[in-house]
Amino acid sequence: MKKRKEIAIYGKGGIGKSTTTSNISAALSDEGYQVLQIGCDPKSDSTNTLTKGESIPTVLDTVRSGKRVALEDIVYEGFNGVLCVEAGGPEPGVGCAGRGIITAVELLKQKKVFEEYSPDVVLYDVLGDVVCGGFAMPIREGIASQVYTVSSSDFMAIYAANNLFKGIQKYSKNGGALFSGIIANSINLPLHEEIIEDFSKNTKSTIAGFVPRSLTVTQAELGGTTTIESDPDSEQAEVYRKLAKKIFNNKEEYLPSPLESHELKAWAGSWSDKLINQSKEANCELECVARESAK
Ligand code: ADP
Ligand code: MG
Repeated sequence: MKKRKEIAIYGKGGIGKSTTTSNISAALSDEGYQVLQIGCDPKSDSTNTLTKGESIPTVLDTVRSGKRVALEDIVYEGFNGVLCVEAGGPEPGVGCAGRGIITAVELLKQKKVFEEYSPDVVLYDVLGDVVCGGFAMPIREGIASQVYTVSSSDFMAIYAANNLFKGIQKYSKNGGALFSGIIANSINLPLHEEIIEDFSKNTKSTIAGFVPRSLTVTQAELGGTTTIESDPDSEQAEVYRKLAKKIFNNKEEYLPSPLESHELKAWAGSWSDKLINQSKEANCELECVARESAK
């Protein structure tokens, strides 16, 4: 049996997990790999850009419908043969979203989805900062062997990444998955890069790649596709292809060192001071220029 790579990609809501994951899936399928992408977010839109912008039925909705679940009711073929699954979520206001992920993944195992399709790579696109055991499942149960987080340089995204590190550390004692890198998304300024590099240095973690914020992504999303599909010759598509290769071949697996709450606060405070000083210096320069030209 061929060895499949199982990768979980975490991050706070709206940070770019599904966009990045779908582009990685599309890029790997272009390389000839069989890819299975599993959306583990009650938003259930992980695979939309692989399926022409259409939402596929979710595992939980199918289970709830009460009929016997067949593989083709829960696994859909998207761009280039990428296999798409959406775990789904509870009915709004009822039940627990994390619990839903557990039910969905258990069902996939029961239905022998992995044996049936024998994918080279399985990508779990998971919401959350691992405050809930359900979302932690791919890590906790060692289902994913490698974990990544998508983060921008915004504090809330970094806060979620730090919480993920805490989760990985906690579950590692019982055979949980290890960390393999930060995917730095929406990085357009040297400052964004500096902030995330500094966070990674302070948490003894690595950066798997930098992805700029790009209009090609917006255009592709509005057209219901990935950038890899709609704009394969763009620089952004090249960024995703490079990232996909890096992730597929990445051997790094380690325990990051999360910051304690007070350390994270102090770290954020030091960046706040740095930014205040930078803007003071910039204002000073502007005033000097204005004074010189008034002479
Ligand atoms: P998540 O899955 O983490 O909730 P999404 O992947 O759905 O987040 O992304 C949220 C929004 O941000 C989407 O509209 C997406 O197109 C946009 N986005 C994500 N990454 C980029 C990027 N690198 N450049 C431009 N837009 C992006
Ligand atoms: Mg998403």
